[in-house]
Amino acid sequence: MQTNKLAFTPAIDSKLPHSGTTIFSLMSALAAENNAVNLGQGFPDFDCDPALIDAVTAAMKNGLNQYALMPGVPSLRAAIAHKIAHLYGNKYDANNEITVTAGATQALLTAIQCCVHAGDEVIVIEPAFDSYLPAITLAGGKPVCVQMELSEAGYAVPWDKVAAAITPRTRLIMINSPHNPTGSVLLQQDLQKLADIVRGTNILVLSDEVYEHMVYDGKQHESVCRHPELAARAFVVSSFGKTYHVTGWKVGYVAAPAALTAEFRKVHQFSLFAVNAPMQHAIANYMADARPYLELPGFYQRKRDLFRDGLQATRFKLLPADGTYFQCVDYRQISDLPEIEFAQWLTKEIGVAAIPVSAFYEQAKNSGIIRFCFAKKEETLKTALARLAKV
Ligand code: PMP
Repeated sequence: MQTNKLAFTPAIDSKLPHSGTTIFSLMSALAAENNAVNLGQGFPDFDCDPALIDAVTAAMKNGLNQYALMPGVPSLRAAIAHKIAHLYGNKYDANNEITVTAGATQALLTAIQCCVHAGDEVIVIEPAFDSYLPAITLAGGKPVCVQMELSEAGYAVPWDKVAAAITPRTRLIMINSPHNPTGSVLLQQDLQKLADIVRGTNILVLSDEVYEHMVYDGKQHESVCRHPELAARAFVVSSFGKTYHVTGWKVGYVAAPAALTAEFRKVHQFSLFAVNAPMQHAIANYMADARPYLELPGFYQRKRDLFRDGLQATRFKLLPADGTYFQCVDYRQISDLPEIEFAQWLTKEIGVAAIPVSAFYEQAKNSGIIRFCFAKKEETLKTALARLAKV
């Protein structure tokens, strides 16, 4: 048998020299090894609505198995435009302002690729979802990180520092609300401050709103779509994975004004071309009923409240959780270990996996805070709480 092993040793000058296995994979593996309750990685441990599965089966049986149109199945784009108009009062044209993507991750990467040139700066608010910085680096851009500030009221964006970070090279500002990992939400005054900052510049906004339907206590989600001045220069990204409990399907979308969408699609058509067809048809049909997403805040608020009530009886200090399915806690009364070590200890010794918030910073920063995901069955949350009470 021939082998070419000795003939050539591949050596790639890495484009992402600092990226390794993500903390989510590492903690999930550690959780499995130690039989721990996995409140680390952010995904539900319960299934989606069976009606959604039936809709996919029907689409497949009806022969909807070939390439979808490049920007997405028309009925799905129409359903998305209708939903945004209904919820946020902004009319996007389904033909040239909505594009279906392979989850939010691809939408974010594509949006960055289509507008960030080598040397351009992108302002990122930290802590930040882990795909942002590598996506900017791959485009040849330079991330400029501004850190959120933590007070008794929770995490907040220091807009004066965002304004101070702007230079003539700033091309894009990325925001995320409801926010992973902190569970904080941007308010109308936050969007107003952002609008004040970018007015009169060419800076674009990339708004990651994958947790748009997880805002609690009767508050409304302040989508950038609601804010005409910002929407005029924004890519707004969301994900059906979060909304319909199907993170493994990787179907999301981006809404953006026609000029931005045209550039977005140039990259989209040569990186992915089109998202899988049967899931798109199924989601389009399923979206005809608004109840599943309208009922989502109540559904997750019950889980959040159960989890928070249980945590009150532990030595962890609760941080506010106004949105997302994440709850951050301060463990400094319990231990002075760095976050990663504390998360490992908690997984191995207590049997509950969490994610260190330091993993969401370019330069790991130890604040003594870890993130739990409460998108879990009630019994999973109760088992975790019983274990955490022993700490
Ligand atoms: N943005 C944020 C803030 C997220 O938390 C996630 C998923 N964890 C994503 C984007 C990616 O979403 P998707 O799975 O649809 O790619």
